[in-house]
Amino acid sequence: MRKKFLPVLIILCLALACSAHAGLKDLNYQSSLPPIVVQGAMKSETDFLISSLEEPVEYKIGSWTYTAGKIDGYPVIISLTRMGVGNAAVATAFAIEAFNPVAVINQGTAGGHDPEIHRGDIVLAQRTYDIGAWVSEPRAKGKGVDFKDVKFNGPFFYDRNLSSGDIYLYSDKNLLKIIEGMNNHSFKGRIFKGTMASSNTWESRVDRILFFHEKFGSSAEDMESHSVADICEDYGVPFLGFRILSNSAVTQEAYNPATGLDCQKFVLDFLHEYIKTLSK
Ligand code: SAH
Repeated sequence: MRKKFLPVLIILCLALACSAHAGLKDLNYQSSLPPIVVQGAMKSETDFLISSLEEPVEYKIGSWTYTAGKIDGYPVIISLTRMGVGNAAVATAFAIEAFNPVAVINQGTAGGHDPEIHRGDIVLAQRTYDIGAWVSEPRAKGKGVDFKDVKFNGPFFYDRNLSSGDIYLYSDKNLLKIIEGMNNHSFKGRIFKGTMASSNTWESRVDRILFFHEKFGSSAEDMESHSVADICEDYGVPFLGFRILSNSAVTQEAYNPATGLDCQKFVLDFLHEYIKTLSK
């Protein structure tokens, strides 16, 4: 009697094993035009954009949510990456595999590194680097820790001829040109072009922040931009990063999540401009 059930059990297990990986293959997203993927790590960075979509349809791959719709008739997908470099990298790879986007736009909030830039200002990430990719010089037990005593590794992607010592990845030049050339936007704050430092950390020690700002030119820090730039580089998909400062230890401005909405409004302004340049 037991033996009879064995084949049924095997088939059931196989079906379950297949369905665990079915998300990516069976999405069935249809679009004659390659969509623009816009990412945010938190709901406070994606809610407004999702509510701005025409004909929204939600897709799920694993625990990552993608809401597909249209803006000005052009396909746009809003991706909730969740926080952190690992989540952002996976959300990006899945988005590229599943939706074949024309570009990936990473946006949201960041913490200030540059004393000139304040909460509510936007930084266009001309370049990004991994603020956690370093090897420290050896120090014996009891000799203390010097956070400046490190060598930076640079990005970890495969098969790319970096000039030696270049730790930066870059936003797509054409996308930067479009966003820099925008004069019809509603954003009231100041806009800077700069460098985004990414890792899973939130640094609040001003001396260490200023070390990174002075040595590597970082304007602000976040937990996603660089890992997204990394995956886009691997796939050859144009990347653009920009962030609003929600806080700055340097200027003593505390975290305000409401800044996420202002950045999303700026994203929408950018999308109107960008979509004009894409053939429909
Ligand atoms: N505690 C809140 C806020 C998280 S802030 C919550 O859990 O909802 C962390 C997110 O905001 C990350 O996605 C990161 O990209 C961004 N961020 C904003 N300010 C930051 C800072 N000073 N350092 C690192 N990430 C920051």
